Amino acid sequence: MQHLPPDLVPTSYELDEDQNVLRLSWSDGHESIISYEALRRACPCAWCAGEGNFAGTMTPDTPLTAEMTTLYELVMVGRYGLTPIWGDGHKTGIYTYERLRAMCECDACRAEQAASE
Ligand SMILES: [Zn+2]
Ligand SMILES: [Zn+2]
Repeated sequence: MQHLPPDLVPTSYELDEDQNVLRLSWSDGHESIISYEALRRACPCAWCAGEGNFAGTMTPDTPLTAEMTTLYELVMVGRYGLTPIWGDGHKTGIYTYERLRAMCECDACRAEQAASE
């Protein structure tokens, strides 16, 4: 995974409830778009992603309810990550800035991801 410069941080965010996407503004001027569903599926917490011998509950086929993909707010975690608070009360996933940036679905990032595959 690409390493980010230490001064590259999210500066603000907006929850787009019409399109169910998170818009995240960065200190370098980039605006990231991440769909709620993609964000929830990528939850890195031990319960969702697994840990040790525990496989985790989230797979690409796990059905998601409307509550599970409703984003209430984002909470800053230290200086390295963000925790989304979901409609079903889930709030144990800490998404690092690197992970969030790598998940960006904007046209420029998609083109870059396609080119590096
Ligand atoms: Zn989780
Ligand atoms: Zn992007």
